[in-house]
Amino acid sequence: ATPTALLVGTGRGAQLGILIKGPQILESTRRVDTIVLDKTGTVTTGHMTLVAVHPNRNVTEEELLAFAGAAESGSEHPIARSIVTGAQTRVVSLPKPESFSSTAGLGVQAVIDGRIVLVGRPSWLSEHWSIELPANLQFALSACESQGQTVVAVAWDGQAQGILAVSDVVKGSSAAAIEEFRRLGLQPVLLTGDNETVARAVGAEIGVTDVRAGVLPAEKAAVIRELQSEGRVVAMVGDGVNDAVALATADLGIAMGTGTDVAIEASDLTLIRADLVAAADAIRLSRRTLATIK
Ligand code: ADP
Ligand code: MG
Repeated sequence: ATPTALLVGTGRGAQLGILIKGPQILESTRRVDTIVLDKTGTVTTGHMTLVAVHPNRNVTEEELLAFAGAAESGSEHPIARSIVTGAQTRVVSLPKPESFSSTAGLGVQAVIDGRIVLVGRPSWLSEHWSIELPANLQFALSACESQGQTVVAVAWDGQAQGILAVSDVVKGSSAAAIEEFRRLGLQPVLLTGDNETVARAVGAEIGVTDVRAGVLPAEKAAVIRELQSEGRVVAMVGDGVNDAVALATADLGIAMGTGTDVAIEASDLTLIRADLVAAADAIRLSRRTLATIK
């Protein structure tokens, strides 16, 4: 009876838009008691829009957007895409960077017109490059963050030249999915590289108070291991390159089908529907399939 029940489980899964890597994963779905959720692209749509442009004194909005847009043109990050799109609609043509590199979870650097341009997490500019935001930009940053917007700082010539705020929306189904997880006995945890203020605002919107913010890509797996060392059995849902190691570390890795190939490869389950309700469906289905076998 066992193989038939498993086939039914995986077949039903395909109907529901859930791809199961192998029947062996069904067992881990039974013991899972914690579900870690990546924020950007998992809880939220990941489609960001540039919503605010604050140049420093002596810098125009056009200059700020031209440098930032050019620097971000080499990055695939959702923040980068929104800055490039926002810049292209406001600036006639973006300069071509002479060189480009990115640091995962922190930001990008590029050489444009012979100048070193940095765009990234404000704490990265201050801690790694010793570039501090002046009081006027710090003030604008706080105002944006308190509205749940993600803020990046832009610098060239070794000085902060402005900030840009981007905004993402929580998927319509995310709050309902959290309720489903709780009904299945799973404790939700929100995990993100974004800052605490934004993460808490998103957490409040979906009803999650256990928020781990400002976590670097390389540290995401450590958060999973820490939960496991507390005796928890952990499922993780993610979509990004940044989530791959954490997805592989979790007892049950669940990838968004809209996510990156690396995330899908690192996971046990892939959700074709890009919403978290499908993750709850997958866990419920696997548990039922197991009940049929036993
Ligand atoms: P998440 O965990 O929510 O998917 P990431 O780890 O990808 O977030 O990014 C964390 C933070 O790193 C962002 O909020 C941003 O401040 C900074 N960052 C990452 N990539 C870029 C980029 N291309 N341009 C500017 N900032 C970036
Ligand atoms: Mg993500």
